[in-house]
Amino acid sequence: MSQRPQKAPYLTKSSYVRGTECDRLLWLSWHQRQPYEEPAPGSPAATGIDIGNQAHRLFPRGVLVDHQPWEHDEAVAHTQQLMSDPAVPAIFEAAYEHAGVRIRADVVERLSDGRWRLCEVKSASRVKARYVDDAAVQAFVMEQSGIKLASVELVHVNTSYVYAGDGTDWPQYFKRSDITDQVAAAKPDIEATVRQQMELLHQTQEPAIKPGPHCPAGCDYWDHCTADKPTDWVFNLPRLSQKKFDALEAANIERIANIPEDFDLTAHQDRMRDVIANGKPYISKQLAHDIAALEGPVAYLDFEAMNPAIPIYVGTRPYQRTPFQWSLHRDDGTGNLSHDDFLGDPAGDPREAFVTSLIAALANDDQEPIVVYSAYEKGVLREMSELFPDHADALERIIARLADLYVIVRNNLYLESFAGSYSIKMVGKALAPDFSYDGLEHVADGAQAAAAYQRLANAKAPDDEASELRAALLAYCRLDTLAMVKAHRGLRDIAVQR
Ligand code: SF4
Repeated sequence: MSQRPQKAPYLTKSSYVRGTECDRLLWLSWHQRQPYEEPAPGSPAATGIDIGNQAHRLFPRGVLVDHQPWEHDEAVAHTQQLMSDPAVPAIFEAAYEHAGVRIRADVVERLSDGRWRLCEVKSASRVKARYVDDAAVQAFVMEQSGIKLASVELVHVNTSYVYAGDGTDWPQYFKRSDITDQVAAAKPDIEATVRQQMELLHQTQEPAIKPGPHCPAGCDYWDHCTADKPTDWVFNLPRLSQKKFDALEAANIERIANIPEDFDLTAHQDRMRDVIANGKPYISKQLAHDIAALEGPVAYLDFEAMNPAIPIYVGTRPYQRTPFQWSLHRDDGTGNLSHDDFLGDPAGDPREAFVTSLIAALANDDQEPIVVYSAYEKGVLREMSELFPDHADALERIIARLADLYVIVRNNLYLESFAGSYSIKMVGKALAPDFSYDGLEHVADGAQAAAAYQRLANAKAPDDEASELRAALLAYCRLDTLAMVKAHRGLRDIAVQR
């Protein structure tokens, strides 16, 4: 983390929203700023920037204030100049400042009666409370700067839009939701909140807010705030409610091992507490029975899919799940493994080839169970069955063969090394210590796989990068099914030893 240069603190629309979530987050984001990182291509952050830029198309002849964030005074002056020019119908990244709050409004649109409309652009599909806060602080700053606002809109993604080819129809792609009333309802609190937040930024002491369920997912300061927590911190109990977390905190119980036996936990949480407190793994009597159903030849299947915010293929909607890859390991029943896979041609919609190749690969043996590690594969197959009715019977036969190893593990086993997670990465590693995902390049999880394929599908990767990404996708998906093989074998060994 880098230290801020010594200058007067100020708020932005993003830091204001962060401050409504957590005082410590606001304080840290000023006093221990994270270094800026360019969003990875295809990542949600990069998609958000892309969608923000595409929204400019809704405002023909709009003018961009292209000053950098650190050139705020120049940006404010440029904005004022554009506002005084009636030939400018809309301003992008318009800059204003009031009471220590510096904002850059996504779009400010000139109306015929001399007033203005504030438009906030989001890549989400619906209005959320934090977007209203975001727009409300901007409306506050603009109105306090003497600008007459007629309305406030959220410009967001219309998930009913279907791509018809020949380029995105942007007016159809975006939905404009009037949030003037919600913003008006939020406005009375803003002045006091801004004052409190500015006072907080001037504090030299880091606020003593404890991390816990209130923290937004993926907070940049999670590692900083949890550095002194034990590995069996009660927060790691899966699905622990805020109420129970608070009760444990009030009782000064920080470690799972110290939770009293009479504390009300779910069966899974209880199991985890017992394993940690007693140092003995949980192995159910049912494990041997459940695992016996997977004897003989077994297949192991895993899918990768993307949900592009801006549809790429004709007939798809924003954020529609588009499977593009499968990996299939097979154990012939004697321990001999074979492998098969499919990776779509990103130049066209990969879904039908995904389906037909999978049906062909699994056509040999209707009795062979197909091990998966979530309900995800079943969901994808159901969607493909509806999309391709000609293949529905074959897909239903595949669905009937699925056996979810996740359910078997979750019902029958808990090891301390799972560390509260039943993910295939944790379980595979725990059951087969020689197995590892280390060494993967470019693609090391499902989100990176989706981003990589999206980059290929949008033809954004030069040839050498494209071949690296394809190799990385194949390597990653292959490891996911190999992890299932290893986990299954590890489970068998445990069941035999019990
Ligand atoms: S991890 Fe939690 S407590 Fe720490 S800054 Fe983030 S939100 Fe606040």
